[in-house]
Amino acid sequence: MTHNENHVVHVETCRWQGVEELVYKDRDGKPTFKDVTRRTLFGEESGDGMEVRYFEVSAGGHTTLEKHEHTHLVIPAKGRGSCLVDDQVMPLGMHDLLYVPSWAWHQFRADDNEVFGFFCMVKVERDRPTLPTPEELETLKSNPEVAAFIRC
Ligand code: MN
Repeated sequence: MTHNENHVVHVETCRWQGVEELVYKDRDGKPTFKDVTRRTLFGEESGDGMEVRYFEVSAGGHTTLEKHEHTHLVIPAKGRGSCLVDDQVMPLGMHDLLYVPSWAWHQFRADDNEVFGFFCMVKVERDRPTLPTPEELETLKSNPEVAAFIRC
């Protein structure tokens, strides 16, 4: 058998030998997320300009409410959660397929008592996320379902 340096052994559900846990997001000022970890499964060195990350949100946690030019391809891999995309709140379970379009507001939350993990594919070369202005937040919250969902 030939040794393949790129082969990563799967050790337990959504933990991989040699793949370190990273800080979800480094950002100045107040934290915009709660209880989220990040792992880069395929990074820059894997080639072709794509990156595959694994995010895990603890029960009660949430990702940043944000938007940006680049898109996300999301596949849940552990537990249950829900998301906001644009003005839609949707439940998410294992192996669902979610496309987050360009400039759509989005946020992910874990269900109560659930750890929610998902794969997220992005371009390596991508723009930085934008956070809502007070005015944009106001507009988002004019939808009662969205207002009840978002955390920031
Ligand atoms: Mn995003």
